Amino acid sequence: MAKGKKNRSKIRTEFRKNHDSRVRSKDITREFQSTEFNDDDYERGERYSGKGRLTRKRTIIGESVESDETGLQIQLDIDLETCVRGRVLSVHGLASQVLGDDGREYRCAVRGLLKNLATDQRNVVAAGDLVYVQPDDDGLAVIERVEPRHGVISRTSKGRQHVMVANVDQLLIIASAAEPYLKPNLIDRFLITADKSEIRPIVVINKVDLVSLADLQPTVGVFAQMGYTVLLASAETGFGIDRLRRIVSGKQSVVAGQSGVGKSSLLNAVDEGLHLKVNAVSAENQKGRHTTTTSRLIPIYGGGFVVDTPGVRQFQLWDVIPEEVAGFFRDIRPYVSRCRYPDCTHTHEDDCTVKDAVADARLDARRYESYVKLFVGDEFD
Ligand code: GDP
Ligand code: ZN
Repeated sequence: MAKGKKNRSKIRTEFRKNHDSRVRSKDITREFQSTEFNDDDYERGERYSGKGRLTRKRTIIGESVESDETGLQIQLDIDLETCVRGRVLSVHGLASQVLGDDGREYRCAVRGLLKNLATDQRNVVAAGDLVYVQPDDDGLAVIERVEPRHGVISRTSKGRQHVMVANVDQLLIIASAAEPYLKPNLIDRFLITADKSEIRPIVVINKVDLVSLADLQPTVGVFAQMGYTVLLASAETGFGIDRLRRIVSGKQSVVAGQSGVGKSSLLNAVDEGLHLKVNAVSAENQKGRHTTTTSRLIPIYGGGFVVDTPGVRQFQLWDVIPEEVAGFFRDIRPYVSRCRYPDCTHTHEDDCTVKDAVADARLDARRYESYVKLFVGDEFD
């Protein structure tokens, strides 16, 4: 979805001195390429990114594409005759795994020129990117061009934006009705993540076989009233699976949710060929451990991809400052502007329209409490 202006032009780009290339590949390139997070790397990278190292200039031909979501991107002219279009399934260090439209998988390096053009501190290639690759005889291909991105899930660390996955159509927020018990506050957090990234959220409540649907209704109703799509499902009985299959078909969906809610089980039910490991890691094991943030796209039967997201921690709020939180609560937002004090936090103030709305049940008390927790920055349990 390349929305925005296209400008055909010659682009002057700046190249680093050759003798810098060793340092560069050690620090910055690896950082841009890697989907792993390591704050030490970021520190090193920032120290390096001073001016004065960019010296050589060269003129290349291409298109600069201005896009709201991704900033300025430059589209290199490439030989479409010999290139294969594809989608990046995963990125490991300097190598990217690409599924070509021809059905073949390519192990790819990134064209050096592309790396030089990555001036806006984003990784050059991320999982989910649509790319053109130039196949090579000896099994290695080269990514020649990366298409403008939409639906980016990224994370900022020390002023640098790291794209975890690009071209995401929707975020499947998976929760379970029981075992583990339903945590609506966690759903709220994921909804903010989706809204902030302008990615369509879909709430899936699994394991409905373990509870009565009537008990779920009050919580589900609140989400539905705000305009969110909520799907009740059971990987165990097959309830809701046809609808889930229609939802994910032909789309790139990121799957989020805490361990044990049945993410793998649901995906296996949607596509019987997947054989994802069920119950691979217990909730206990996962808690304290540093989980990798490498994203992996899994092609699903009938078209579309699901993106495996390891662990829930990476999807906790980032970039959202306390003052912004109320704006991301669709139900609270309308009351905010009517508060008496423009800088009302809606927590301790007397005479607050938000609190009044909770008091006379126009606003859901559970949602309000969830807001307060996010505002004061409580860690999710
Ligand atoms: P994940 O960690 O989110 O991928 O969850 P898993 O798919 O590994 O499932 C965790 C556990 O929940 C497994 O023991 C599954 O058998 C069980 N489970 C998954 N879906 C359902 C369901 O719809 N109903 C019931 N009762 N159990 C389920
Ligand atoms: Zn207020």
